[in-house]
Amino acid sequence: MYDLFITNASIIDPESRKITVANVGVKGGRIAAITRDAAESVQALDCTGLYLSPGFIDIHAHIESNPSAGILMCQQGVTTVINGNCGMSPDNLPAFLERESVRGFAVNQYELVGATSLRAQSGQHDRNAPMSVSQTDTAAGLLEEALSAGAAGLSFGLEYEPGSSAAEILALARIAARHGKPVAVHIRSDYYAGLSAINEAIDICRRTGAGVQISHVVYQFGYGMMQQALDIIDSAVQEGLDISCDSGMYTSFATFIGTPVFDESCFEKWQVSYDSLVAANGKYAGQRLTRESYLDLRTNYPEDAVIAMIGVPHEIPLAFTLPYMMVSSDAGVNQGQDTSRGHPQDSGTFPRFFRKIFRETGQLSLVDAVRRATILPADRMGLSKKGRIGIGMDADLTIFNPILITDRGQFPHEGRPDALPDGIESVVINGHLVIHQKNVLKPDAGHTVRMRGKPYSY
Ligand SMILES: [Zn+2]
Repeated sequence: MYDLFITNASIIDPESRKITVANVGVKGGRIAAITRDAAESVQALDCTGLYLSPGFIDIHAHIESNPSAGILMCQQGVTTVINGNCGMSPDNLPAFLERESVRGFAVNQYELVGATSLRAQSGQHDRNAPMSVSQTDTAAGLLEEALSAGAAGLSFGLEYEPGSSAAEILALARIAARHGKPVAVHIRSDYYAGLSAINEAIDICRRTGAGVQISHVVYQFGYGMMQQALDIIDSAVQEGLDISCDSGMYTSFATFIGTPVFDESCFEKWQVSYDSLVAANGKYAGQRLTRESYLDLRTNYPEDAVIAMIGVPHEIPLAFTLPYMMVSSDAGVNQGQDTSRGHPQDSGTFPRFFRKIFRETGQLSLVDAVRRATILPADRMGLSKKGRIGIGMDADLTIFNPILITDRGQFPHEGRPDALPDGIESVVINGHLVIHQKNVLKPDAGHTVRMRGKPYSY
């Protein structure tokens, strides 16, 4: 007797790269059978005409324990998120992991240790200054502790912390390498300067042995320099370095107005004016900025999020010409505020990926698109029981209609960023049916992933 028996689904297996019609039996949170026979179950789900894949894994998000953002994730078919990106993670991560592991969340969450947070906890609050030797030692101790408590790896947000020195970066990355865990890098610059900044990320891999994930590539380079960026990344990969990368499905990124990203020089660099910035939340939510509102936010509300409406749309499909480019959302800039504000990436990234890169253009096959959203990020993060279909694998499953799959979220000056996508039929997390036809049946089936072993060791 299975807990859940899913019948007649077209099962997409990104490992064998095959699609086949069969039934899936789920028991105790795991896949217990893949069969063409009938079986008894507590709950049955007929999926005739629908496709079933491993649940989508979002390798780049910022939605730590934010319930409304977690629900938007499951509604787009995501079952596991990697948080703590761009250098930002909760303070005292071991305590956070302990607390979260007893409290359920909408999706599974796996947490990177953010270097910016380590800097602050070690007493370095000046983003323009390097850490001293003793501060670096303190940060190293905190990182060691968090990785031993099961954190996913390390992240840098070098664009936000220009004072980060090579000495501190390499010291921290060496610890991640020793634990066999990856280092996610939001590189030091975007636009043309970003092209040389990629080499700093590649050097982290070359000099420490840590696997390096280059974050949200379109947000760094989707302005006409994408092909050059891909060539630099790919030549490092061809050299044999353990480098991988991810990208979202939008060119217009969101971040906090007080960060160096929005220093006044950005307008000249991007060749745009104040009205290319749209407030994602806060006092001016949904409005294009003026010089006055820009200065008001910079001075008085540095934590408010702003979307830079910039970039070249055709750079997005170009990014996915790289066979190991994963899809990621960068969701969560809204920090738990009203979901009617924020960025459409929070609700739309994965449906938009399938719509634009598979359904409308056929750029990727369905199997390859699923691979970018499942087994590829699972392997990067050492999640050996996720991102695949097989007996004993975690029962994180997404059932969708590839003909209908469509994102509906809009930018906040145009509509609702949290409009639910179409075509996501059902989502199963740890064996529980959590979403069915857009209804939330169980909002807390997600676990906190804590991996104490070494995913990679040498
Ligand atoms: Zn980032």
